[in-house]
Amino acid sequence: AAPQSTIPQETKSICPYCGTGCGVIIQHDGRRILGVRGDPDHPANFGRLCTKGRTLHQTVHAPDRATRPLRRDRQGKERPLHWDAALGLAAKRFAEIMRAHGPRAVAFYVSGQLSTEDYYVVNKLAKGLIGTNHIDTNSRLCMASAVAGYKASLGMDSVPACYEDIAHADCIFIIGANPAYAHPVMFRRIEDAKVQNPDLRIIVADPRKTATTSIADLHLPLKPGTDVALLHGLLHILVWDDLIDRDFIRTHTEGWAALKQRVQEYTPKQVAELCELPEALIREAALCFGRARAALSLWCQGLNQSAHGTDKNTALINLHLATGQIGRPGAGPFSLTGQPNAMGGREVGGMPNLLPGHREITNPEHRAEIARLWGIEAIHPEPGLTAVPLFEAIERGEIKAVWIACTNPVVSLPDQQQVVRALQAAEFVVVQDAYHPTETGEYADLILPAASWGEREAIVTNSERRISHLRQAVPPPGQARPDWQIFRDFALALGKALDAAGGEPAREARGQDLDPAREQARSHAELAQRLFEFPDAESVFQEYRETTRGRDLDISGLSLALLDREGPQQWPFPAGATRGQARLYTDGIFPTPSGRARFLAPDYAPVAEEIDARYPLRLTTGRLRDQWHTLSRSGQVASLFRHVPEPLLDIHPSDAGRLPEGSLARITSRRGSVVVRIRHSTLQQPGTVFLPMHFGSRFAPSGMANVLTLPALDPVSKQPELKHAAVRVEPAVFA
Ligand code: SF4
Repeated sequence: AAPQSTIPQETKSICPYCGTGCGVIIQHDGRRILGVRGDPDHPANFGRLCTKGRTLHQTVHAPDRATRPLRRDRQGKERPLHWDAALGLAAKRFAEIMRAHGPRAVAFYVSGQLSTEDYYVVNKLAKGLIGTNHIDTNSRLCMASAVAGYKASLGMDSVPACYEDIAHADCIFIIGANPAYAHPVMFRRIEDAKVQNPDLRIIVADPRKTATTSIADLHLPLKPGTDVALLHGLLHILVWDDLIDRDFIRTHTEGWAALKQRVQEYTPKQVAELCELPEALIREAALCFGRARAALSLWCQGLNQSAHGTDKNTALINLHLATGQIGRPGAGPFSLTGQPNAMGGREVGGMPNLLPGHREITNPEHRAEIARLWGIEAIHPEPGLTAVPLFEAIERGEIKAVWIACTNPVVSLPDQQQVVRALQAAEFVVVQDAYHPTETGEYADLILPAASWGEREAIVTNSERRISHLRQAVPPPGQARPDWQIFRDFALALGKALDAAGGEPAREARGQDLDPAREQARSHAELAQRLFEFPDAESVFQEYRETTRGRDLDISGLSLALLDREGPQQWPFPAGATRGQARLYTDGIFPTPSGRARFLAPDYAPVAEEIDARYPLRLTTGRLRDQWHTLSRSGQVASLFRHVPEPLLDIHPSDAGRLPEGSLARITSRRGSVVVRIRHSTLQQPGTVFLPMHFGSRFAPSGMANVLTLPALDPVSKQPELKHAAVRVEPAVFA
């Protein structure tokens, strides 16, 4: 026999961590992933990878991989099941609950780390087969306020700019983001631009000094939560100094008079007081933005994770509209997506208010279009519950079964104890993940093993609307399967279980009885068979693609073959296109009824939970450079703990009082308390403390940041205020 080649095979993929969406080349032997290198041809990173990306191969063949379905009892005893038995059990329990309580007694909570195909199938399962719109995603914790802001101001959910704009801008305004940690490869572009363009000025508004502020020409350490006041104050100065673009305002916008009146109230003096910033610094930042030839704004969770996140987003977009800084190279508002496919999830409608192709549940025409495409009678018109209310409904017993996929809400949602109470109250919990155990898995009745990065084919969309094709390099371990296949096979099993349950198992589904006869199917099983006839991932992609035809995100001209041949492409990419579109609104026409972008004029409102005598410090939470979300994946790599091995509370020496550096402190909010080591730090202003959000009980038994956070929501985006809670800090006393 010929000797086996020792040269590893190479397969192109995408990093599954942050929304930068870096291309990676997987080195493997067809069985095991041996290493990774950056893809020099991928336009998101041109070969670069950060510490997380470079160690990806160590996350695949890890001891904590879930490899077989497990039945779990409430005492924590687990026993393996075959797939048929596992899905049969899930289908039986779902059918029983639907029969007794209707389809809206079941819910799905999924993830921006799922692929577009996964999202499409689970969304069709919930809204098309079951008849529940209770499907939300952890992207609710990430981008919901940016989505709401784009829709309100620009008329649609889309990022107008692209990574290339970093090199064209002469002012980059970063607010509520630390891309040096959260989007490291994208941040390298900013560093490059600073070297190559001596005229580039970088402004960073962040309550803390971070690795990002270290390259800023101006750092505005504003009081947490005062972003709207700051943004209105900047616009006030732009108006006063006549640095606005009157032609653009007149031709392409509406609502200017009301906004102008609003920002009159935000004088530099008042804003300086509210934001606790020097007036001169605010003025300098405004002039820098206003005099720029091309100004680009980048933001992330610091604006989004707020009870006023939508207002913060629209106030930032106002700055761009008032100065005409949009739709041309180097100019535009550019929200940075946290997760690798948060945008793809929205594209396929994987949220309680959406349908595929950026359609709205509340729009009868949109429902009819998707019902027609899916071949069903109707879709229920009422949006489902978003993440936090969904878990509250579970605790109240209104939702009795929940299917959680590729996310760890016990660590990531606010008010962690509430999430635990909800999962304990649920009658049936499915946790589908590539890793086991997780903190959420402890409350599961059924654990389903999912294929991970490198083990399946998929598409994802990154922060700049760029769709990439991930290819499979190696088989999944054990019995693990791609998420979309699990959802498909569950749908088929559920069809049979609904038939077996008899009666009217899904009364009021989609606004009427779920009657297969109305769907031209003889039975639920036949209906499921017809809806989920997906032999492979590509067939899912093709069906999704049809839903985008004629829509703002039209990708009817894309195919996997084209992506493989021409490389990743930005949407829209309609039939006949030869390349994707780098920037949107280049003609100044916006997808609103009038064709004009809208100025919104929100008033500044304080944080949801103000400090007081009992809770005198402001807690803000955030990310570490080398960790990701709740550590399910990055926690598999020992070297990633070298940077910061445990959750440390950063506290200003003037707030530390009797707490020496390195001592254990109890941090208490109105929801609960955690015990962590403290680090004296002048990175944040006195009065503010910082705790990383990653560590669950598996990695830091008493250091879970979201024990402390509160479930206050933005009224429009329903994104929770994870960035601010009132706390007190005292020495930890052990009995
Ligand atoms: Fe992965 Fe983001 Fe790092 Fe790129 S920047 S390698 S996408 S974690």
